[in-house]
Amino acid sequence: MDSTNASSAPTAVTGKGDDGDNNPAATPTPAGTPSGATSTKEPVLSTHYHVRRIDGSWHVGEVIQKRNNLENGLTEYYVHYKDMNRRMDEWVTVERVDVERGPVEETPKDSDLMLESLNGRERKVTRNLKRKHDEINHVQKSYEDMDPTTAALEKEHEALTKVKYIDKIQIGRYEIDAWYFSPYPDEYGKVSRLWICEYCLKYMKYEATFRRHLGECTWGQPPGREIYRKGTISVFEVNGSDHKVYCQNLCLMAKLFLDHKTLYFDVEPFLFYILTEVDKKGCHIVGYFSKEKESPESNNVACILTLPPYQRKGYGKFLIALSYELSKVREHPSVWSISLFG
Ligand SMILES: [Zn+2]
Repeated sequence: MDSTNASSAPTAVTGKGDDGDNNPAATPTPAGTPSGATSTKEPVLSTHYHVRRIDGSWHVGEVIQKRNNLENGLTEYYVHYKDMNRRMDEWVTVERVDVERGPVEETPKDSDLMLESLNGRERKVTRNLKRKHDEINHVQKSYEDMDPTTAALEKEHEALTKVKYIDKIQIGRYEIDAWYFSPYPDEYGKVSRLWICEYCLKYMKYEATFRRHLGECTWGQPPGREIYRKGTISVFEVNGSDHKVYCQNLCLMAKLFLDHKTLYFDVEPFLFYILTEVDKKGCHIVGYFSKEKESPESNNVACILTLPPYQRKGYGKFLIALSYELSKVREHPSVWSISLFG
């Protein structure tokens, strides 16, 4: 499927100025060419174009929003790539949108056309296959595949979260690409990069504020009590009622990497378990999970996240194992036998 898209997409930049030329105004215009013909064309919002992705491949995408990126001074367009998970959405400069070639007519997906021509059982079987394919390939579920309530909720969620303004966060020594929208308060939610203190999780718009904060912040570790330590790993239990702001900041940051519909601003009913790596400087947040304080289910993890730089290192498994151990302790308080991480 992808290969057909690729072959119909331009393989080279045609009829445009030098690829990657960020300053078309400085390029001499050959005599007889309508001056600025390419540079003045702007993508139209809610329209599909061929767009060059970050890996250099061309893909049809819808231009959803426009902004002036204060960080680099460039005008950027927010693109959602057709048939791709919204995690792949990105802000691109005009050079990456093939405006010259013009808008792409929106055509139904091949798989949808195939479904149209089928009936009854055949249709159902094909739909199941399609669903499997979509799940494996992380294709967004279509509304018709959902029950009406879920579809309505999803539509609302999608409308609210369509544009991911924050595309990077700086936390500790890591610069991390954000995957999804997170409802940070307006003046913070529309910057392209957010600066976050890795200890108290305070978020800031400007690097200068961030640097100043690092000099002043006295935390060095999450709040709450340390419940586990082995080697350089340490886990803290934070009560949502005792440290509301910290837990809300944690949820806001986590939402950048989770595509859940609901986010718990109401943090008080939850306990948060923060996994950290410890060195001389302090306890650096790696991930966390949250649990409802009162829940009929024994293992009631509400949210679980390992920050991208720490993924694929076994931390996710560790967090899950820890959550089970904690449930056991709750049921049989005498059992406190965590045998995790070797
Ligand atoms: Zn801080």
